[in-house]
Amino acid sequence: TAKEQGKSTYQLYMPNTDTGVFQRLTLESELQRALEREEFVVYYQPQIDVSHNSTVGLEALVRWKHPKRGLLTPAEFIPLAEETGMIIQIGEWVLRKVCRQSRIWQDAGLPPLRVAVNISTRQFQQRNFVDLIEQVLQETGLEAKYLELELIENISMKNTGSVTETLKKLKSIGLHISIDDFGTGYSSLSYLKQFPVDSLKIDQSFIREITNDPDDAAIVQAIIALAHNLKLKVIAEGVETVEQLRFLEANQCDVAQGHLLGKPMSASEIQALHRKTVRPSF
Ligand code: C2E
Ligand code: MG
Ligand code: MG
Ligand code: MG
Repeated sequence: TAKEQGKSTYQLYMPNTDTGVFQRLTLESELQRALEREEFVVYYQPQIDVSHNSTVGLEALVRWKHPKRGLLTPAEFIPLAEETGMIIQIGEWVLRKVCRQSRIWQDAGLPPLRVAVNISTRQFQQRNFVDLIEQVLQETGLEAKYLELELIENISMKNTGSVTETLKKLKSIGLHISIDDFGTGYSSLSYLKQFPVDSLKIDQSFIREITNDPDDAAIVQAIIALAHNLKLKVIAEGVETVEQLRFLEANQCDVAQGHLLGKPMSASEIQALHRKTVRPSF
């Protein structure tokens, strides 16, 4: 609503602990220019099926090739983009870029992989969000089944029939939906019952100490059981060691993602990797 948007706009003028007001205002105008000059790039991180050790998907992660400050990670600009509303345009750019890129890979004969795109709550709540998705799919000729949306648990998703409505529409088009950073946000188990989602992504904060901390191990086991009982797939984020992967395998986690299995890579690195994987060995 307009009221909510007004609120987030005011936040721009509030003092921030990390960044001075001047720097924030500079960043804001730079974000706008960055879009116009196409300074954003999308990296892709492989998602690996734990029991078959094969790549089953990719997650798209945006970066900003800043002309002076080099490659910036989302933590350095997404929060401000969220506050100012620029995330709507950046998100739309990422979505188009990803669908176009997936189509290019498929046309080049690479095995088709589903690509997951992170969607900010603000972007998801746009009234024309479903139309945008349909438009981009049509424009790029990508089949909906190759697109996944990652949403985070958010307080503003509480008790909204409209969230369910939007998700149902997206599902009926053929998209996959996952809940990102599961267990860290506004957690209400009731939305798992209400929202038609396909998978849960266990936040990396639970994975980090999985082999040392019995509490984390218990939480991860419980999330996996919960997901499976609800007929959902479960993905572990931030897998960095063989021991973590073994634990996940022993506990029937479906998919894993992390530096152990592949860092986020540029589109051309992904293409080179898959060329190598599928090249016949004679
Ligand atoms: P996320 O969606 O939870 O993405 C996972 C983050 O973990 C990524 O950080 C990824 O690079 C990082 N990661 C992957 N494997 C490992 C690992 O083994 N160890 C560690 N320590 N980290 C790992 P990144 O790329 O910096 O992105 C941070 C967050 O920014 C994302 O978290 C997502 O919430 C947001 N984001 C990224 N791209 C977009 C986008 O296009 N739109 C929106 N709205 N948000 C985005
Ligand atoms: Mg994500
Ligand atoms: Mg996550
Ligand atoms: Mg995260």
